[in-house]
Amino acid sequence: MRVIDTVTELRAALDAERAAGRAVGLVPTMGALHEGHLSLVRRAVAECDVVCATVFVNPLQFGPHEDFDAYPRDLDTDAALAAGAGAALLFAPLTAEMFPAEPCTTVHVAGVSEGMEGASRPGHFDGVATIVTKLFAIAGPCRAYFGEKDFQQLAVVRQLVRDLSLPVDVVGCPTVRDVDGLALSSRNAYLTAEQRQSALVLHRALCAGAAAVAAGETDPATVAELMASIVAAEPEVQLDYAEAVDPRTLRRPAALDGEVRLLVAARVGTTRLIDNLGARTPGAAPNHDHHHPEQGATVPAARTDHQESH
Ligand code: AMP
Repeated sequence: MRVIDTVTELRAALDAERAAGRAVGLVPTMGALHEGHLSLVRRAVAECDVVCATVFVNPLQFGPHEDFDAYPRDLDTDAALAAGAGAALLFAPLTAEMFPAEPCTTVHVAGVSEGMEGASRPGHFDGVATIVTKLFAIAGPCRAYFGEKDFQQLAVVRQLVRDLSLPVDVVGCPTVRDVDGLALSSRNAYLTAEQRQSALVLHRALCAGAAAVAAGETDPATVAELMASIVAAEPEVQLDYAEAVDPRTLRRPAALDGEVRLLVAARVGTTRLIDNLGARTPGAAPNHDHHHPEQGATVPAARTDHQESH
C-alpha cells in the first residue's frame, strides 16, 4: 500500500488509475481504524479495482469544546490495518496540506443536517460537508463508502453529491457492532470498562424501539419516549436525543409507516456516543434493492446490522 500525503500526488495517482480503466473506491475516515472502517474498505475492495482510504482528523467538524486534540491518532497502525483490508492507497495529509490557509468556503446542506446531530453540534455538518466535498474534488470520479453508523452524515453526503452533481456514487454500509451490541466507534476507546457496560443501553433502547415499531406502534413520540425511558434508567448515561424518523427526510412523520430510522445520542461520562437502527412497521415490504452482506462473515468477533434501504 502506498501512503500519500499531498493533494497533487493523490490526484495524479487516482487519475492514472482511471486512465488505465480502473474504478476507484474511496473510504474517508478520521483514522483510529476499527472493524467498522475496515468493513467499508473490504466492501470497496470487493466492488472497485483500486481502493484509497483516507485518514484526516478534520478540524472543521469539531466544536470548540469537543475532542479534536484528544482524538486518537496512530497512523502506523491505521496504515497496517488499511493495507490488511486491501487498500492500495492511503491518503493521510497534514492539516497544513489540506488547509494551507484558513478556508473562506463552507458547504452547507440544509434540511437533513438540521435536527439531531445538527442541533446538538452547531457547525458540525458544515465541517463534514466541506471536507467531504474537498476530498471528492481531490479524488475525482469514484465510489465513496460511508457507514450507516453516522446515518445523518450519510444523508448529508448523499444530498450534497446530488445538489452539486459531484461524480461520486455514495455507498452506505451497515453498522458493525461488537458481539454485545455496542456499535464500534473510535470514541469507544475513551470508555472505562464500567462505562462501556453502561453504553450498551443505547443499543438496548434502539432494539426496544424497533420491537415496538414492529409490533404496530405508529406514534413516533411514543417510540422516542420508550427509547428515552430505557436510556434514563442507566444512571451513568445522559441522553441527548432519541428520535424515530423517516429515513429519507430525517424528520419525525405524523405516523410511522413503512421504513423507520431510530436514532439516539447520549453522553457516557464525558464521551458522546451515537447509534441508530432501522425498523419497519408491520406489513411493510422489506426493501430488497440493495446488497445484503453476510452477517458477520468477515468480522468473526463482531456483527453487522442488516443493510437498510436506499
Ligand atoms: P470516522 O472515522 O468516525 O469519521 O468514520 C469514518 C467512516 O466509517 C464513516 O463513514 C463512518 O460512518 C464509518 N463507521 C464508523 N464506525 C462504523 C461502524 N461501527 N460500522 C460501520 N461503519 C462505521
